[in-house]
Amino acid sequence: MAASIVSQTVARGLRGASAKHLFLDKFKCARVSSRRWLNLQEYQSKKLMQESGVTVQRFYVADNAPDALQAAKRLGAKEIVLKAQILAGGRGKGVFDSGLKGGVHLTKDPSAVGELANRMLGYSLTTKQTPKEGVKVKTVMVAEALDITRETYFAILMDRACNGPVMVGSPQGGMDIEEVADKTPELIFKEVIDIFEGVRDDQALRMAANLGFKGPLERQAADQIKRLYDLFLKVDATQVEVNPLGETPEGQVVCFDAKINFDDNAEFRQKAVFALDDMSESDPTETEAAKWDLKYIGLDGNIACFVNGAGLAMATCDIIDLHGGKPANFLDLGGGVKEKQVYEAFKLLTADPKIANNSAANSWRLVTMPQC
Ligand code: ADP
Ligand code: MG
Repeated sequence: MAASIVSQTVARGLRGASAKHLFLDKFKCARVSSRRWLNLQEYQSKKLMQESGVTVQRFYVADNAPDALQAAKRLGAKEIVLKAQILAGGRGKGVFDSGLKGGVHLTKDPSAVGELANRMLGYSLTTKQTPKEGVKVKTVMVAEALDITRETYFAILMDRACNGPVMVGSPQGGMDIEEVADKTPELIFKEVIDIFEGVRDDQALRMAANLGFKGPLERQAADQIKRLYDLFLKVDATQVEVNPLGETPEGQVVCFDAKINFDDNAEFRQKAVFALDDMSESDPTETEAAKWDLKYIGLDGNIACFVNGAGLAMATCDIIDLHGGKPANFLDLGGGVKEKQVYEAFKLLTADPKIANNSAANSWRLVTMPQC
C-alpha cells in the first residue's frame, strides 16, 4: 500500500478512517468519521486500475502457500514479487512475527515463493502505519517483478483547501516519501484540478515533467495521470495514491503500488466497489457500532464515554484526561439518536472488559454528557 505525504492520508492509515482526525493529548490519535471508510487491498485497487487502462504488472492472488507457489510458476516471469496484502503502507520495510523481514519480497526463483508465502500468511506484519502488534496477513499478491529505474510518487486527492481535486507528485517516490515531504518539500509538486474541466493536457504534461519523466516517457506518464484521474472520478474516490509510479528500463511507466480511498456518500451508486469490502481488518466493536450508525473509537483507558456530538465527546475525553483518568472510548451518538441506538451503545460499552473490570468503580464507570 502506498505511503503518504499528506497528514490527512497518514492519519487515515489503517482501518480507513476519516473526515476529522482528533489528536487527543496523551493518549492515542483518535479518528472520527461520520461512517466507516471503505478500504480496499492493493490487489483490488489494481483490478480497478486495470479496468481504467492504467498500467500495472501481471499478478495473481493467493491465500495459501501452495496456491502462491502455483501462481508464481504460472506467471512465468523472470522475476517475481510477493506482496503481503494488508490495509497499511510501509510493507516493504515491515517485519513479520514469523521473523521474516519485509512485506514485499523479490525473487528470481519461483520455487522460493511457497516458502516465503508460508512465512507471511497467518503471521502479523508490523509497519510504521500499523498498530504495534501488526496486522495478520490473510492474502498475498504474487506479481511479475519489473526492474525499476526510477520511483516517483503520484496522488490525486480531494482537498478542502482547494475546493476540489489536487494532483500531488514528487520525483523522489518510493518507500520514504514522508521523509521527502519533511526534508525537501520543494520536491513536492501540486496541480489544482478544475472539477468541471478535468485534467488539462498542459497540466498532465507539467506534472509528468516535474516527476522527472523525459522524452517519450513524459507523454506516457501524462497519459497514465489522465487515466488515473478518470478512475478517480469513475469510482468516486477521495484519493488515488500511487507510490511508486515507476519507470522501467524497457521504457514503460508502471503503477507498482495502489491505494484508493472512496467517498462513502457515493455508496448508493458504487455498489460493486463497496461490495469488495470484507471488513476483516476492522475492529469488531467499531464495525458493530457502525452498523447502528454510532461513531465509536476504542481507546486505552477504563472510563466509558457516552456523548451526543463529536465536539462534546472530544471535550469529555479531554476533561477525563485532565483529571487523571483515561477514556476507554470515544463515542458520539449523534444528534438524532433513537432509543434502539442508545440501547446498542450501552451494550457495546458494558461489553468492554476494560470498563467492566474497572475496580475503581463498583462495576463500571460512565461519563455522560447531554448535548448543549
Ligand atoms: P509499501 O508501500 O507498502 O512498502 P510497495 O508496493 O510500494 O509497498 O513495495 C515496496 C517497494 O517494493 C517499492 O517501492 C518497489 O521498490 C518494490 N516493488 C514493488 N512492486 C514491485 C514490482 N512489481 N517489481 C519490482 N519492484 C517492486
Ligand atoms: Mg508503496
